[in-house]
Amino acid sequence: MNPAFRLSIAIPMHNEESVLPELLRRTRAVLDQIPGGPHEILFVDDGSSDRTFELLEDAVRQDPRIRAISLSRNFGHQAALTAALDHLTGDAAVVMDGDLQDTPEAIPQFVERYHQGFDVVYAQRIRRKEPWPLRFCYFVFYRMMAALSDVRLPLDSGDFGLMSRRVIDQVRRMPEHHRYLRGLRSWVGFRQTGIPVEREERHSGKSKYSLFRLLKLATDGIFAFSIVPIRAAALLGAAAIGVSMLYVLYALYYRFVLNRSPQGFTALIAAITFLSGVLLFFLGVIGEYVGRIYEETKGRPNYIVERVAGAFGNEKNESLAEMRRPQRSPEREPFR
Ligand code: UDP
Ligand code: MG
Repeated sequence: MNPAFRLSIAIPMHNEESVLPELLRRTRAVLDQIPGGPHEILFVDDGSSDRTFELLEDAVRQDPRIRAISLSRNFGHQAALTAALDHLTGDAAVVMDGDLQDTPEAIPQFVERYHQGFDVVYAQRIRRKEPWPLRFCYFVFYRMMAALSDVRLPLDSGDFGLMSRRVIDQVRRMPEHHRYLRGLRSWVGFRQTGIPVEREERHSGKSKYSLFRLLKLATDGIFAFSIVPIRAAALLGAAAIGVSMLYVLYALYYRFVLNRSPQGFTALIAAITFLSGVLLFFLGVIGEYVGRIYEETKGRPNYIVERVAGAFGNEKNESLAEMRRPQRSPEREPFR
């Protein structure tokens, strides 16, 4: 085992002040057991409106292994993870939720697999403790994703997992705006493995993912890793053409051989409304892709750092030094 091995643990936080003390206690205890060092815990405060960042600053003062950055507003979970990957310095990094749904105690197993030569070790959820309708949606989503996407995405795995330095560097090279980290991570390749980890209940506070945001993450996942929906439009169009040709043949037969006059007003209306629905639906699907192209061409950064706390001295990113400001800006406009 490499004695100089340095691990980073990256944790995005959005209004998690109630979880923080317990999170710190358990994560620091885990870090103590990991050989090598000095390790670090990097918190990204994603525009919290509670005291999360103040508490983080206290923690930074007490433990030199802890560092924290705060973003200028709420950019969302995936953007916060991106910020974390850009600022952590370890030889390998574990990405973990800040609500203790991901058990820090699983981290030593990740590290063990890393030392066995794996570049990515992700947690596979063996049991979720969420309400069944949500569990059902997750179940369907992960299977749909696996069926649709071009890269092999592991089933039932979230972002919780370890990445080696070379995987982190590759993920950081990807400039895309709609980030689906677990997908990008699989896409990179090298040696990847999953280990079963139970997904706990949220320690306290509320989930920051509304149904709408979950749907957004799900569509990001699908549209970023698959063009099957567009192909489906072409296939369905071809099928519709086939059916209508058959129908024309039948209509000719009906009129000229059986010598009856055509009927079928209801069928006509049904066909028109059905096909217009299909057309509009796929227009929407194509719109999703076009919208994403538009988002990407704007090339805006994924996040903006407002403040940092902790030892960011030997940082490659020099602009960070300017962001050390003593006082938090008093009023922050909520975004939208
Ligand atoms: N989070 C974040 N920014 C957001 C929403 C969530 O940094 O806009 C963090 C949150 O603090 C938590 C993690 O992302 O540490 C996962 O969020 P949450 O537990 O709300 O999602 P769920 O587990 O319900 O999917
Ligand atoms: Mg959670």
